[in-house]
Amino acid sequence: MNNKHILVIDAGTTGIRVLIYNERNHILAQAYTEFPNYHPAEDRVEQDANEIWAATQQMMDKALDFLSLRLNDMSCIGITNQRATTVIWDKATGEPVSRAIVWQDTRTASRVEELQPEWAEKVYQRTGWALAPVYSSLSIEWILNNEPGVKERAQRGELAFGTIDSWLVYCLTGGANHVISASNASVTGSYDLTTGQWYEEWLSALDIPLSMFPEVCDDSGEIGRTDERVTGGSVPISGVIADQHAALFAQGCIEPGMAKCTHGTGTFLDLLIGEEPKIDTNSGICCQIAWRHKGKTLYALQGYAGCTGSAIQWLRDGLQIIDSSAESKSVASQVPDNGGVYFVPALTGLSAPYWDPYARGTILGISPGTTRCHIVRATLEGIVYSVRDFITEMQKISGFDIKSIAVDGGASKNNLLVQFQADQLGVDIVRPRNVEATSLGAALMAGLGVGIWKNEKECFAVSRNRQLFKPLIDEATRETQYQTWKLAVERSRKWSKL
Ligand code: ADP
Repeated sequence: MNNKHILVIDAGTTGIRVLIYNERNHILAQAYTEFPNYHPAEDRVEQDANEIWAATQQMMDKALDFLSLRLNDMSCIGITNQRATTVIWDKATGEPVSRAIVWQDTRTASRVEELQPEWAEKVYQRTGWALAPVYSSLSIEWILNNEPGVKERAQRGELAFGTIDSWLVYCLTGGANHVISASNASVTGSYDLTTGQWYEEWLSALDIPLSMFPEVCDDSGEIGRTDERVTGGSVPISGVIADQHAALFAQGCIEPGMAKCTHGTGTFLDLLIGEEPKIDTNSGICCQIAWRHKGKTLYALQGYAGCTGSAIQWLRDGLQIIDSSAESKSVASQVPDNGGVYFVPALTGLSAPYWDPYARGTILGISPGTTRCHIVRATLEGIVYSVRDFITEMQKISGFDIKSIAVDGGASKNNLLVQFQADQLGVDIVRPRNVEATSLGAALMAGLGVGIWKNEKECFAVSRNRQLFKPLIDEATRETQYQTWKLAVERSRKWSKL
């Protein structure tokens, strides 16, 4: 029983982590390395796809060596990855035509403004995502129009586009497979959720040949097999899933209405909604494929607050009132409440449902008795209020009344934050012992794909250690606090453009 090993490649934005799991979801080995992110201009973030592949190979070797195992000792491989980062390579040689354009890159911001009047509503309605520079289709257009000779090669059908999952599968299979998993396809700003096809009308308006696009495969199942000549083993690749989606699965959110909340640098809340997409173009909430397994597609809504964990970092590095992010808990705990202080952490603007890039961080209610403890406490509370702002929209669109949320990510280790989340949202919050959910999601998808587990429910048969936080405040207090927050938000809006 104890000889099923799953190798997971967690291809993040700053580094590659390779983990080896057993079928009891235990991590037996892991290896991590960073790779360079390039910033050739203020609005540009680039990566070298060959460096990502080299780092992946090195970390695979390192993790296997640690256990004195070979690739052929693995039952299967799972991949989870940063989303929407765009790679274009030559189908014949496998050589990328340029550096990859990373999801954080905003070089296409002016192009977005140009396309807005004609396309904003249409593409949101079809792709489930508001038109923005994060769209891979806009990065593809940029590369085709700006790298010499690339457009002609694309038109001759010589080039392939993929996100980092596509690229890694292509490399691992020795160039045999050009695919993208359904979850990843749905966050490229190129995939039509309403038809389940690439959105041809949009791609043709951008003059991008369809021949560049990969085949969309399930997130779990027979996706490919590693090429022995390249990797030293022949092993099925049976799980490929985008990062937030992997975390949603790992948290056991397999029934519509279940949600997870990842508190990292920013906060992502994902809510599984079932087999039909639900898109509201006025909400700023994204609709995407959660995952596809055995041809069955599940959809999720996603809300995002850009400045949450990074606001804690600002307390540490900018304001310098805490020594570490973790210290935010003990400092905030020195006071019984926020003392009337509210902090809207809009350091880089406000996301859903306000969509105000000109809003700025705002601290209100400072009195002679205010201490750093109040400010730190107000920051943790501000993170939670930011989530409440968009969760209301998500409940409206989906029709689900969220009763419980599973948390993960670095900032979810903070008990005060998590308890306040339970209090303010009025829902149960559950936190697994291991808050690194992404790689586990890929391991489970891969195991499911080769039949280590027969169905989604079996993946979660092994009981996991989870801590429960129940709401402790009454409805009236909750509402008074939230209404005060709303007033604070109003004061932060449009600040940098007044
Ligand atoms: P990412 O994957 O986005 O890089 P992580 O999941 O590693 O993020 O979480 C890192 C973020 O979590 C940082 O912004 C940090 O400030 C915050 N963080 C980490 N530990 C704590 C803590 N104990 N309390 C509050 N915030 C924390």
